[in-house]
Amino acid sequence: MHSRELIKELIEKGKHFCVAPWVHLHVTSLGNMNLCCSARVNGKGYGSLNENCFQELWQGEIIRNFRLKLLADEADPRCAQCYQQAKLGLWNLRTEINNLYAYKYLDWVVDTDSEGFSPNAKPVDWDIRFSNICNLKCRSCGYYSSSRWFYEGKVLGRWKFTDSNKAIIKITDSAKLLNDLGPYFSYVDRIQFAGGEPLLMEENYHLLQILDGLNKHDVELSYITNLTKLALKNYDIISFWKKFTKLRIAISLDGLGARCEYLRKGLKWDQVLENWSRLKLECPHSRIHINYTVSAYNIWHLPDFHRWMVEEKYISADEIVLIFLVEPFCYKIKILPPEMKKQVIAKFQNHIQWLKGQTPFYGDDRLESNGRFLQWFDCLQYLNDQDWSHRIPIFVNETRKFDELRHESCVEVFPELEPLFHCYGKMSRSQ
Ligand code: SF4
Repeated sequence: MHSRELIKELIEKGKHFCVAPWVHLHVTSLGNMNLCCSARVNGKGYGSLNENCFQELWQGEIIRNFRLKLLADEADPRCAQCYQQAKLGLWNLRTEINNLYAYKYLDWVVDTDSEGFSPNAKPVDWDIRFSNICNLKCRSCGYYSSSRWFYEGKVLGRWKFTDSNKAIIKITDSAKLLNDLGPYFSYVDRIQFAGGEPLLMEENYHLLQILDGLNKHDVELSYITNLTKLALKNYDIISFWKKFTKLRIAISLDGLGARCEYLRKGLKWDQVLENWSRLKLECPHSRIHINYTVSAYNIWHLPDFHRWMVEEKYISADEIVLIFLVEPFCYKIKILPPEMKKQVIAKFQNHIQWLKGQTPFYGDDRLESNGRFLQWFDCLQYLNDQDWSHRIPIFVNETRKFDELRHESCVEVFPELEPLFHCYGKMSRSQ
């Protein structure tokens, strides 16, 4: 038991406090119950749901120790990504979860005993990855998030495979998990669906059927999807989405047309646009934005992409989130040579001028007073943060390996990257 004032001070001024272990449920496609999707965890997180039932882990020793650590505002190495992003002034999950839930469920934190046991704490914010099933093999992705990576991952010796014969990894008994979670359905505030590709996982439709049966249509549904398919077997996602009042959809797109098809292998650009039109028509209440993974491949193209999407009225100017690619490190924007960084900066400066005249969807009617405006400056800061151009040969080598396997050509799709292959490709061959 802690004083309310002390916990409020921790929320406001603490450097490491995070309410996630009181409210958040994250399950990986390996069946591990983890801290959250931002945490870097070796092993099983709070434990394996393939080996334990949910209730055992939710008040188990590992999560209880984590709660006590956070109550003491101690740093935890598993949370390094949140700390790092906050230091750079970027979005981070800790801030998001604290803003959403720290005050709403303050009592659960206050009631935590000296062993980390919180009698009323419940998972109200879910992020369950039932499997790695996906129909794409994006350059920035990997085996644990996409079953389509299995073959190339093996050929290139990329990952230690848990089971060398299986492309699909999944929670062993998802029906049991949903059953274990039965008592918590009526409390849930938000469910995040990501993947793999969440629209291709049957379990996600089962979950929606349960919510539908409970008439719980006020849960916020938040998707990260490639929007390539709107149906699976007899399920049509639009017919579910129409019923839920709070619907957020992030569409993962990394370029226009052929550029996107190259980076998100398997995607058909025209199909995505067709699905998007249906979504807008039948679910006008949905809040849609684009998640653009910014990498060395596509930062140069980003202003052109963004402007096209706005001018074609797919999004408002602030309905895009820039995600700075973290892995594989050789695709990071920091690897670009100084001369190309200068070109990117010039393009961004022009684009920012254009942005100032745009009307945002969220907040004020001037984009400049909107948080989504600042991310363009963050992007430039991240670009200039360090010079990693000595890693260009690795970028060139990696790109060539995949081009060969996939029978495609990076420079044909991204002609602006040709100088990297021309100059630094020679370097890589001589190394
Ligand atoms: S601090 Fe960040 S990484 Fe750690 S549990 Fe909270 S949200 Fe997850």
